[in-house]
Amino acid sequence: MAIIDGKLISLQIQDEIALEVNAIKEKGGKVPHLAAVIVGNDGASETYVGAKVKACDKIGFKSTLVKLEENTTEQELLHIVEGLNKDADIDGYIVQLPLPKHINEQKIVEAIDPKKDVDGFHPQNVGRMALNLPAYLPATPYGIMQLLERYKIDTAGKNCVVIGRSHIVGSPMSILMARNTVPGNCTVTMCHSRTKNLKEFTLNADIVIVALGKPEFVTADMLKDGVVVIDVGITRVPSDQTKSGFKLLGDVKYDEVAAKASYITPVPGGVGPMTIASLLMNTLKASKKEIYL
Ligand code: NAP
Repeated sequence: MAIIDGKLISLQIQDEIALEVNAIKEKGGKVPHLAAVIVGNDGASETYVGAKVKACDKIGFKSTLVKLEENTTEQELLHIVEGLNKDADIDGYIVQLPLPKHINEQKIVEAIDPKKDVDGFHPQNVGRMALNLPAYLPATPYGIMQLLERYKIDTAGKNCVVIGRSHIVGSPMSILMARNTVPGNCTVTMCHSRTKNLKEFTLNADIVIVALGKPEFVTADMLKDGVVVIDVGITRVPSDQTKSGFKLLGDVKYDEVAAKASYITPVPGGVGPMTIASLLMNTLKASKKEIYL
């Protein structure tokens, strides 16, 4: 069994991007510039955005943080988005979700210029992804594809079961694994809460991608020997074994599943660290105009 080390791969990708940024600077080119908009004071969102801005600084990107009050109106946010769309210095930007309840998230996502949508949530990017056209891929699925590629995991012709069909993980993941690409070319089954006899599907899977948000839901008896397991879930559960009083659990019962798997992502340290690397890769693509000419 091999552990897929997302922390290591994420750092490798960041080093590769930093080298490229240095080369751009030496040639007097434009430094990639990412902006992040955050509305309100959600602690988790502030932590995520803070980590994204810090990663930009570390690798030499320019970053701009737009911090707005909780009571910002939808109209005011749309105005900010319009400004970012027009700002020629900003290559890409994200609006951190979730937004306060009085703001229609979909309306905001659709107002973002698809050329600057480095989160890959705009319907135009989702559609382009489905059509196998150049597109910004959403961070978590993009990160998983990088892990599969960099660990040279053979996916062609394999049975892949994706558990979960959210717009940010399960659904794009099942599209990507079915595309005629490397990695890809899987026969994909997408399962969700209405799936009957889930175990029948998972027992037939060579690759299982689990994103349902239920700690230790997938157990060894549901899987065959040699399976590749990608565990996306992260749930904070109380623990008397840690100083903080909590620990993070994935959607997979790690110890027993690891004993059966050929490859597995741990939680933490598997898929999670890849999301920042994905955002930085998308921003570099935006600055190089690789997706949209
Ligand atoms: P979500 O929007 O809540 O979606 C969960 C999906 O799981 C839904 O499609 C749901 O089906 C399905 N599901 C629920 N119970 C099920 C069951 N018993 N059997 C089969 N399918 C079931 O969650 P998400 O945003 O995709 O996130 C999933 C997990 O990944 C969470 O723990 C989240 O924290 C984590 N996550 C991690 C990262 C990372 O960077 N590592 C990024 C994003 C999310 P229905 O559609 O029928 O309701």
